[in-house]
Amino acid sequence: PFDVLVVGGGPAGAAAAIYAARKGIRVGVAAERFGGQVLDTMGIENFISVQHTEGPKMAAALEAHVKDYGVDIMNLQKAAKLVPAAQPGGLIGVELENGAQLKAKAVILSTGARWRQMGVPGEDEYRNKGVAYCPHCDGPLFKGKRVAVIGGGNSGVEAAIDLAGIVSHVTLIEFDGQLRADAVLQAKLNSLPNTTIIVSALSTEVMGDGEKVTGLRYKDRTTEDEHLIELEGIFVQIGLVPNTEWLKGDIALSPRGEIEVDARGATSLPGVFAAGDATTAPYKQIVIAMGDGATAALTAFDYLIRQAPV
Ligand code: FAD
Repeated sequence: PFDVLVVGGGPAGAAAAIYAARKGIRVGVAAERFGGQVLDTMGIENFISVQHTEGPKMAAALEAHVKDYGVDIMNLQKAAKLVPAAQPGGLIGVELENGAQLKAKAVILSTGARWRQMGVPGEDEYRNKGVAYCPHCDGPLFKGKRVAVIGGGNSGVEAAIDLAGIVSHVTLIEFDGQLRADAVLQAKLNSLPNTTIIVSALSTEVMGDGEKVTGLRYKDRTTEDEHLIELEGIFVQIGLVPNTEWLKGDIALSPRGEIEVDARGATSLPGVFAAGDATTAPYKQIVIAMGDGATAALTAFDYLIRQAPV
């Protein structure tokens, strides 16, 4: 068995694996796709001390760094079930989709999350070419340009307020007849001069010139009229979904499906820790996921040294 088994190979999992391996213990990483969301990212400009890098480059660097410590990387392995220890301090099992079962004294869950997509024509084609999901990451790329934010919940309205300070104009598009964000956020958005709010609107197509986004088509759900907004960017803010479906029933999850963790990365199960976008920790960013991964690994090590010798 492993001393520490990390499930998920994004920034959180990579950091957890390195911090654990540096304690001289046996560490494995099982990942559906090593690199995680970073693989889908073009420019990264907020990873502190690195002015600019690209996602695939960072993912390769994560893998090289983890391998440097002799960590057993099991890539393209999807975990399907967590099997809690039979008795306190016992081995914890992780069943893979291929039927294999891995065992470890401590497990760190770092399966990340995925942005919910609109599912309209053009969205995939223009992803990273005007279609964006993370205002903290990509907002500055649209300085002085026109953008739309899709989604009138808290994250959509926060994104619109944030972007209004950077871009020339923000159009907020909400499917429902009214915004769902907190009143204070709506009041703030309404007070800004360069924002337009459109409700009862169904986004239907991302328009582009083959290279980048040029517009967004939507249908007014009250009149059925089609409209086209000319713009350069579209931020989709209709939800970040944690990759925790496989954990339901075995570990405490928040109403949004995030793994509940304390400040040390401990979950509701002894010996099971968690880090990164899959957890209740706020702000989903690389630098934060890595910090949380390090925290979870140190907490896991602290747990291991307190177990009775066998
Ligand atoms: P993830 O990166 O999501 O990694 C999760 C890992 O778990 C993956 O290896 C995945 O394959 C694996 N996994 C999932 N389910 C299972 C399972 N059942 N079994 C085994 N493995 C599983 N952040 C920034 O700081 N700066 C940016 O510029 C930036 N740009 C972004 C651009 C885009 C397009 C996207 C999508 C995100 C961006 N982010 C950015 C956010 C950042 O990528 C995430 O916050 C970060 O990757 C989270 O790390 P993580 O390790 O928690 O999860």
